[in-house]
Amino acid sequence: VIPKPVMRLALAKDKKEEGKILYSDVCKVFNEVENTSSRLSIVKLCSEFLYSVLNKTPRDLVPITYLFINKLGPDYEPGLELGLGEGLLMKTISESCGKSLAQIKAKYRELGDLGRIAQEARAVQPTMFKPKPLTTEEVFSNLQVIARAQGKDSQQRKVQLIKRMLTACQGVEAKYLIRSLESKLRIGLAEKTVLIALSQAILTYEHNGVEPSNDIVDAAEQKIRDAFCQVPNYEIVINTALEHGIMNLDKHCVLTPGIPLKPMLAKPSKSISEVLDRFQGQRFTCEYKYDGERAQVHLLPDGTMRIYSRNGENMTERYPEINISDFIANPAETHTLILDCEAVAWDKEQSKILPFQVLSTRKRKGVVAEDVKVRVCLFAFDILCYNDEPLINKSLAERRQYLERALKPVPGELQYASEVTTMNLEEMQSYLDQSVRDSCEGLMVKVLDGEESHYEPSKRSRNWLKLKKDYLQGVGDSLDLCVLGAYYGRGKRTGTYGGFLLGCYNQDTGEFETCCKIGTGFSDEMLQKLYEQLSPTEISEPKAFYVYSESAPPDVWFEPSMLFEVLTADLSLSPVYKAGSGIYDKGISLRFPRFIRIRDDKSVEDATSSEQVVEFYESQAHMK
Ligand code: ATP
Repeated sequence: VIPKPVMRLALAKDKKEEGKILYSDVCKVFNEVENTSSRLSIVKLCSEFLYSVLNKTPRDLVPITYLFINKLGPDYEPGLELGLGEGLLMKTISESCGKSLAQIKAKYRELGDLGRIAQEARAVQPTMFKPKPLTTEEVFSNLQVIARAQGKDSQQRKVQLIKRMLTACQGVEAKYLIRSLESKLRIGLAEKTVLIALSQAILTYEHNGVEPSNDIVDAAEQKIRDAFCQVPNYEIVINTALEHGIMNLDKHCVLTPGIPLKPMLAKPSKSISEVLDRFQGQRFTCEYKYDGERAQVHLLPDGTMRIYSRNGENMTERYPEINISDFIANPAETHTLILDCEAVAWDKEQSKILPFQVLSTRKRKGVVAEDVKVRVCLFAFDILCYNDEPLINKSLAERRQYLERALKPVPGELQYASEVTTMNLEEMQSYLDQSVRDSCEGLMVKVLDGEESHYEPSKRSRNWLKLKKDYLQGVGDSLDLCVLGAYYGRGKRTGTYGGFLLGCYNQDTGEFETCCKIGTGFSDEMLQKLYEQLSPTEISEPKAFYVYSESAPPDVWFEPSMLFEVLTADLSLSPVYKAGSGIYDKGISLRFPRFIRIRDDKSVEDATSSEQVVEFYESQAHMK
């Protein structure tokens, strides 16, 4: 049910700005969130605060939302990354708070949190005048200036700005300012939670402060989530909701060439018969699962092209040799499009696919077309938008027709993904074997017709199943887990870590839940490399958002910074580990986990989710 036209929306734009939101108000919420474990209470805390922002200074809602998720803008906009180094921050804190660098370093070894160090140093620092309080607007725009600062003197300019802000910080402000600068706010506030809080705040505002019924709250949440998947830009989504009403977001926030949407993801499966069971009676296609890098290719109205990664990062510069215009069937009629492709390393002489490891040797920055040694072929498997018409709500069979009309493939440069439409087990088996002989990982099996075959941005969908040849023996896929702690090595491994404590990510709570200890699959060189990379991230106590058992603590804890790709024989319930412990009394753990590689193309929040671990476990119990 779409609620009555919204009364307060017009106000949002014209409303006289009555005051500014202080940075201390935002930090107060951060502090409360950090000390609250109930997710419902966190949503309430955040939505009430965001609602108060809307009533006071609506235009602060966008920067505050970004501060909440510790970002400065959309992922696809370059130059907005913070993540300042600890060396620079220690120096700045020392100069600004009247402590020696040695004192700061010693304290850092003890506490492992520069934010707390800054807060404590500020607390004992005598000040003659009460500084003018920081406003949110000012902090946000300073953070943007810091992120964008480049070239000569940029270091100096950053330090000056941070010092100016630190001098004005009171109470917990210094702690959160420094953590934000490091991109390590990590207060256990998941982005999903922020989105829910945002929808509730806007909805309550639309309803003049009266909380709407649960049905409407749920519908609004879905609307804002769908809008954000298609247009992952908080500024556009928030302003559109304020202008047209949250329930009308779907009419105004649609796919736009130049804005990467969140890609659809697949669920793992363990066998062809499992796939056949799942897709009973439905027509489906088996595509090669290429082993390269996801590439979302956009053709913009001005004829330029952009290529975005799985995470929405603009990586056009990485592929200067690709020009999508070369592959358009009908240039005069094609103004814009969005394609979903896999970029794969290609051996031109032998006309064949090369392994992922070869692709990963390509330079990431400053690539010049003439110098490219590892060629790339784009394998197009979907089209999401054609001449500004969103196609995601058409069937895959229809999208394929658009794809075939839009493109003019060139062997070794842009090809359609190889596919076969069959429901025959033997044929699928031989196609799976053939895909592996052709240097692919296996198959992607996709529903072809009807609503179930629509493209679902951002969703790990049951309508796309991956069959990875190498993992069919285990649980059907590898897992990407965050390194939370380590155990010192003994014997041959003395001097490095000998084992690691890993965890999955709970997307609802923003917590990492432990799920195994791993000590297998590492070469001596890898252990040395891991020691070098992880030891600087050691912290003296576990993060508040680590869920672990006191009975088996690791020797050292880490900041969450690295994912391991891990194989496992199977999963079992365990009294020691905590994955999915919100669902079962016990947690789920990996048996005989084996290290495959570091996943540096994913952020820690992209780790295998607790929900996925539960699904792996349940599908296995079901099989048994
Ligand atoms: P996930 O993306 O599922 O979290 P992942 O990054 O480890 O996991 P995989 O599970 O190996 O990736 O598989 C998904 C990826 O496979 C897609 O993101 C895409 O890049 C790639 N891919 C290759 N061929 C296809 C295809 N035909 N259809 C869809 N995706 C494909």
